[in-house]
Parts: sequence; structure tokens; C-alpha cells
Amino acid sequence: MLFEKYVDVSSCSNYRIGGPADFFYIARTVEDIEAAVQEARGAKLSIFILAGGTNILFSEKGVRGLVLKIANDGIESLDGCRIKVGAGVLMKDLLGYIVARGLSGLEWAGGLPGTVGGAIRGNAGAFGGEMKDRLVEVRSLDIAAEKPVIKKRQKSECEFDYRMSVFRRLASGEIVLDAVFQMEERKPELIEKDIQDKIKYREERHPLEYPNIGSIFKNIPYETFPEESKAEVSHIVKTDPFPVVPTAYLISEAGLKGVSSGGAMISPKHPNFIVNYNHATSEDVKALIRLAKDRVKEKYHVELREEIEYA
Ligand SMILES: Cc1cc2nc3c(=O)[nH]c(=O)nc-3n(C[C@H](O)[C@H](O)[C@H](O)COP(=O)(O)OP(=O)(O)OC[C@H]3O[C@@H](n4cnc5c(N)ncnc54)[C@H](O)[C@@H]3O)c2cc1C
Repeated sequence: MLFEKYVDVSSCSNYRIGGPADFFYIARTVEDIEAAVQEARGAKLSIFILAGGTNILFSEKGVRGLVLKIANDGIESLDGCRIKVGAGVLMKDLLGYIVARGLSGLEWAGGLPGTVGGAIRGNAGAFGGEMKDRLVEVRSLDIAAEKPVIKKRQKSECEFDYRMSVFRRLASGEIVLDAVFQMEERKPELIEKDIQDKIKYREERHPLEYPNIGSIFKNIPYETFPEESKAEVSHIVKTDPFPVVPTAYLISEAGLKGVSSGGAMISPKHPNFIVNYNHATSEDVKALIRLAKDRVKEKYHVELREEIEYA
């Protein structure tokens, strides 16, 4: 069998929270991914896709079936500023590559952790940019089909939306394998400066000193905000990538900055982050998620929705 048994996935999570996976496998090539899916199917194991682990809250109970870690790296230069990037490439490595070659278009992603595949699935975004912006096409492995089959979709077929794509809608039905990006030429030093500015911004405002999984909740599109509460938040609306009310503000105004449960805490530095400051359990984090939802609903009559995934 390809797989390892009883691997503690907390070490693969940026949160350092989790438990044992029944089976675990790191796939370093597309062929590895196909072989693992084949084997899991033969053994009737469910498959959970893990990549950088920067957006998943695992339970201490662990994960039944196979945890398949996507680590196919490799970046290939195509014609005319196009690049083909493996899903397992770390965003920071992709940014290093574009700086070295003077390829512009992903500067907004400076400091965005995780992999290219994870970012495509969730259409990750920041500073007005989104993963979809430079995408041309995405290849994925459809594992819901009777016989796993590789699909190629043009950007227009990927159903990108705010932190959403066809790959996320299909739950674990498809594994993003690689993607082609259309970049444009720019001086490397200008690309590097923009990226460094974003990294600095994040270092100053995000609680990166503690294990975390980024923003817990999505920001709230202003147009969906209840009419009766709109006046209270209109001064704080920002455009990223369309007018949104920052959830960090709502949690802060609900009086929850610095509130803790066990070893987890709503970050006083950025209240949409819940940090693991002292051996937090998944239940500690979930208690704070419930608290934030309840208090924000009471005060603003809006439902907070998770950006993170549970496993
Ligand atoms: C400090 C910090 C800052 C962050 N800032 C931002 C931000 O500014 N904007 C933003 O959008 N997000 C942000 N995030 C969240 C996170 O980094 C992104 O969502 C990231 O794109 C997740 O990638 P990953 O490889 O870590 O995915 P993981 O966390 O490993 O997985 C996330 C989900 O994607 C699925 N998945 C992963 N890879 C694949 C694949 N190849 N095919 C199919 N499904 C897959 C997994 O099953 C899981 O459901 C931040 C996180 C942290 C810790």
C-alpha cells in the first residue's frame, strides 16, 4: 500500500490543531495523485484533500479515510508570458518565480500562505486582487466520476465568485492539478517592491506570531447588509474586490477583541483571526466561532459565514 497509517495531521495544519488520519499520502506528481485516488477507491476509503493546511480547522478526532496531501510542484514557462503552475506550488515560491522573471499580475498575493491549488479552489484574494484575475485555464481530476478523469476548464467555466469556484462547490469531487496564468512583463524590482509592501502590511496587522488559519469569516457584501444596520457601517465599507463590510470591525464592535476560550483567542490585533495562543483545541476555536456569530447577529442582524473549512 502507498499510504502511511495514523499520521497526526496537526503537524500539517498552520493551526497545529488536529488528530490522526487513518491513512496519509503526499503526492508529488500528477501521477502520484492519480495512483493515490485509484488505491483509495480500491480500498473504499474516503479522500480528504490537504494542501498547505492554512485554511482548515481539523478536529482532534482526526480524519477517517485518506488524507491526500497535494504537493505537485513545478512551474513551466509557456509562450508569451504564460506560465503553467502545479497545484502544490507554494504561493511564496510562485511569487519568487515571477519576481525573478519579471512577470507581473500576482503582486497582490504577497504574504498569502498556502498553495496555488488551494488558492484557486477558494478564489483567494486580497488588496483588490483575486486568484481568478490572471487565470487562463485549470486542469482538475474528477474523482466523483465512476472512473477518475482529468478535466480542463477555461476560466469562464470555473464559476469563480467571492472565495468560491466550481471546485469548491463540488466539495471534494475534484482535485485541482495545475493551471495556466497569463502574466505581463514588468521590471522585477517593481514587482518585488509591491510584494514586499503587502508582506509588510500583513506583518503589521495580522497576528502571525501565533498559529492561525487566517480570517475565520468572510467579509460581508455591503449590498446584502440589512437595511436597518447599513448606516452604522457605511463609514467602514472597503472595496475588496467589491464593497464589503469588514467582519473584523463587526467582531470588534461586538466587544470580542481578546476574548478567549481555553487556549484560543479572538485576536486583539485582527479580530477576524482566532489564534491558537496556548495549545488550543478545535472545540476552543469552535466556541469562539459560535460566540462571534451570536454576538454579531444580535448587534447587526447579519449571519457570519465561515471562510475556513472544517475537517
Ligand atoms: C496568515 C494567513 C493569511 C491569509 N490571508 C488570506 C487572504 O488574504 N486571502 C485569502 O483569500 N485567504 C487567506 N488566507 C487563507 C488561506 O491561506 C487561503 O485560503 C489559501 O488559499 C488556502 O490554501 P492551502 O493550500 O493552505 O489550502 P488548505 O488549507 O490545505 O485547503 C483549503 C481547502 O481547499 C481544498 N484544497 C486544497 N488544495 C486543493 C486542490 N489542489 N484541489 C482541490 N481542493 C483543494 C482542501 O480540501 C480544503 O477544503 C490566509 C491564511 C493565513 C494563515
